[in-house]
Amino acid sequence: MSLVIVGSLAFDTIETPYGRREKIVGGSGTYCALAASFFTQPKIVGVVGEDFPEGILEFFKNKKIDIRGIEVRPGKTFYWEARYGDDPNQRSTLRTEPNVFENFRPQLPSDYKKADIVFLANIDPDLQDDILVQFQNPKLVAMDTINFWINTKPEALLQVMEKVNLYFGNEEEIRLLTEEKNLIKAGRKILERGPFLVVIKKGEHGALVLEKDSVFGVLAHPCEEVHDPTGAGDSFAGGFLGYLDKTKAFDAEREIRRAAVYGSVLASFVIEDFGIERFKSLSPQEIERRFERFKKLVSF
Ligand code: AMP
Repeated sequence: MSLVIVGSLAFDTIETPYGRREKIVGGSGTYCALAASFFTQPKIVGVVGEDFPEGILEFFKNKKIDIRGIEVRPGKTFYWEARYGDDPNQRSTLRTEPNVFENFRPQLPSDYKKADIVFLANIDPDLQDDILVQFQNPKLVAMDTINFWINTKPEALLQVMEKVNLYFGNEEEIRLLTEEKNLIKAGRKILERGPFLVVIKKGEHGALVLEKDSVFGVLAHPCEEVHDPTGAGDSFAGGFLGYLDKTKAFDAEREIRRAAVYGSVLASFVIEDFGIERFKSLSPQEIERRFERFKKLVSF
């Protein structure tokens, strides 16, 4: 089993119609690793400041997440602030402070370099590129990003995209990146640039998994109370890649479809509470039950 996740570890301040939380733990790497930990033993690469809670690092270890790739640096942890309105698919980013992420250039532990699956979660695309060259022979490389990087570093982002096999993006990001309104056409544009698989996340409406000759649609679990949509995309990727790492089927269509359903299941749990709170009580049995319910949801 070897999945390495490169991403942010953060403090987030989040406001949704269900309330406001100040400086709670978040980050793309955090959500993804926690979701993946239900299937495999992910390794995480990132950086935190001295203000990052020791208890969370302990929590990662208890979840069998390998944290040797997390550097603790003098300074403050990455900080992000966002607000959601009544539509959970729409959010406004109010503030982004890179802090210790500025000038972060990690040297990976040697066993990390042998990873089968590498996930470049949402971080600076220059950093994604720098880190990717350190891996020896990954079988599957996936990436994700966010509007912030599409707007500020589009060239760097396109360069990374050419080197990956799987691209995760939400509808808004994919439209922005390709300047194409129709999602299927937009997805195809991305396929032309390198990846063999594009996953278009559609928030509470599920996701589309696009390959050259096929499109697979996965529903989102019908959730009546979305307390905090933050991290849904990263948790989707974590469930998806964690499952693929467990099965070692990196490009089999059947497993990719199941992976997408597990991704959707993990995302549906994380949004039930603020931040990473729901991961603290989530059990493998709950995941399996929701996976089975999913099958009923789509059979007719
Ligand atoms: P998601 O809701 O899946 O898009 O992910 C949200 C997470 O991404 C939050 O916990 C943030 O801390 C993190 N995040 C937001 N903006 C950035 C950024 N520019 N670079 C890295 N991580 C970010």
